[in-house]
Amino acid sequence: MSPEGASGILLVLSSPTGGGKTTIARRLVARDGAIRFSVSHTTRSPRPGEREGEDYHFVSPEAFRTMVERGEFLEWAEVHGHRYGTHRRERPAAASEGKDLILDIDVQGGLQVRKAERDALLVFILPPSLQVLLERLAKREGEPGFDLAGRLETAVKELEMAGSYDYNIVNEDLGKAVDQVQCILDSARMCSMRLSKQAQALRGEIVQWLRSRDVHRQ
Ligand code: 5GP
Repeated sequence: MSPEGASGILLVLSSPTGGGKTTIARRLVARDGAIRFSVSHTTRSPRPGEREGEDYHFVSPEAFRTMVERGEFLEWAEVHGHRYGTHRRERPAAASEGKDLILDIDVQGGLQVRKAERDALLVFILPPSLQVLLERLAKREGEPGFDLAGRLETAVKELEMAGSYDYNIVNEDLGKAVDQVQCILDSARMCSMRLSKQAQALRGEIVQWLRSRDVHRQ
């Protein structure tokens, strides 16, 4: 849980297609009650099983454009022919719940967040090998409009940006990758800058306690 009064941690997870960032993000949210999953807006249609407000806010291209014009997005990007964006209200919403916020977004969006929110933590998830990546993508080849070569071309561009992220994690073993992201988050929660308020409050209490004892002694 974030210290009182502070805004929570903003954790961005990005990966090339098939990296497994959505699964990692969902697992973290399921096991750590102090994380809020940022639900993005998108112009793409829901896939079977996806629910409005849980997986995405599904909006028309016109509605999305209006939101862009009004400056409502912290970041937005066009990915595989559809638009996706993170609403600015997500961060204050997480802060009001005393939670950290996790963004599952593409690399273009991650780099925009880096510029807009200096304190954001950026984590890049890597598939362990081309072989594993091809196996993961093969499962999605049946999806309408799925373009394997297009995904791999985008992956080439995205991998170029991995060095701009704070951390790179290889997702070979899902459980281990989830633990590693949790570890990054837990370390950030212990950062002295974030906890300095708490340290000062404790200091004040100790000073008061010592003073009260002095009064008793006299
Ligand atoms: P999908 O349509 O498969 O759910 O997502 C396609 C890509 O869009 C994924 O890389 C996903 O992380 C990314 N994405 C989802 N939401 C956002 C968002 O709000 N902003 C950006 N920039 N990318 C997003």
